[in-house]
Amino acid sequence: MDAIGIERGREGPRLFEVPKPTPDGGEALVRTLRVGVDGTDHEVIAGTHGGFPERDDYLVLGHEAVGVVEDPNDTGFERGDVVAPTVRRPPESGTNEYFERGEADMAPPEETVERGIDGAHGFMSEYFTSPEAFLVPVPEAIAELGFLLEPISISEKALELAHASRSSFDWESESAFVLGNGPLGLLTVAMLVDDMRVYCLGRRDRPDPSIDIVESLGATYVDSRETPVETVPEVHEPMDLIYEATGYAKHAFESVEALAPNGVAALLGVPEPWTFELDGGRLHKELVMHNKALVGSVNSGPDHFRAAVDRLEALPESFLEAVVTGVVPHREFEQAFEEGPDDIKKAIEFGPR
Ligand code: NAP
Ligand code: BGC
Ligand code: ZN
Repeated sequence: MDAIGIERGREGPRLFEVPKPTPDGGEALVRTLRVGVDGTDHEVIAGTHGGFPERDDYLVLGHEAVGVVEDPNDTGFERGDVVAPTVRRPPESGTNEYFERGEADMAPPEETVERGIDGAHGFMSEYFTSPEAFLVPVPEAIAELGFLLEPISISEKALELAHASRSSFDWESESAFVLGNGPLGLLTVAMLVDDMRVYCLGRRDRPDPSIDIVESLGATYVDSRETPVETVPEVHEPMDLIYEATGYAKHAFESVEALAPNGVAALLGVPEPWTFELDGGRLHKELVMHNKALVGSVNSGPDHFRAAVDRLEALPESFLEAVVTGVVPHREFEQAFEEGPDDIKKAIEFGPR
């Protein structure tokens, strides 16, 4: 079957032939419908994040997938069920306490592999297999957009962790600052706008489709070149909630200054090492004296995917149409990895529903 991936020693993604998988006991065989591309895929292709499976010289890409059960095998699924797979699987060394507790998303990197990212083949192939526990049912009506469930689930988890860190007192977020106008940032803006005032940080000139989306959702665009993150309390307002999705390491620390007292910033970016100067004493004191929290969040589990299903069903159609800027047939996969000025979220299509 066809698969899209990278090979050791060669640059860029390629189409290659791999054997069609056979499901083991407890696994279903899934025919892939669509697979989304995100910032992490670009990091994996560039070799700055993730890695090849131990035994192979190639990695099948893709971690944002939706498919249809072709062979339920001995699982509880039926042929034709639409499903989205979660990303993490136990490492070669076998299962561990995180997987036993159903909390793979809380495992440190050495206790897990990530399909399509780190140490395990992803879903950019005509078929994939997965254990039942890692497949989440998707309603037919949203099958075509099911590749958005994984990124939405990432935000569901991060927002859950942020709220949990504020759960011991009476806290309500009235203002939120989403850092980053990539797909993850824009999806998160759309998730928050009904409940609070939302600002979104970018570094682009108008006209730009991501700025149009921010504004059409009723959120305020903030240009980091004119309004650095730490100045936002004076220019706009202090933020109860910050959601960092730029991968720009200084933002983690600048967020502390942008938070309102008792606020929380969720950090999602996966930056490269970067040494810079900052006033650690000031930030430490600011965190303590104003009861502020920084919380890192990675990956997501089946409950976050289930929450993402409800969320996706509720997102405005006009937003979804604007954010998905391309769905390309798998043999034209190169287009899905191009980053043009008008590109936001793109997906590769392997087959029709
Ligand atoms: P993306 O497409 O790379 O989006 C990042 C956005 O941030 C881009 O639009 C970029 O603007 C903007 N940006 C970067 N530096 C900026 C700055 N200094 N000022 C203003 N805007 C800036 O990636 P994504 O798919 O949306 O994901 C966002 C980040 O989250 C990535 O770092 C990704 O690795 C990470 N991520 C983490 C998880 C997790 O589980 N923790 C899950 C998914 C993604 P330009 O396009 O104009 O450069
Ligand atoms: C994926 C997550 C993964 C993270 C770190 C993200 O792009 O969506 O599932 O845990 O990258 O590799
Ligand atoms: Zn991702």
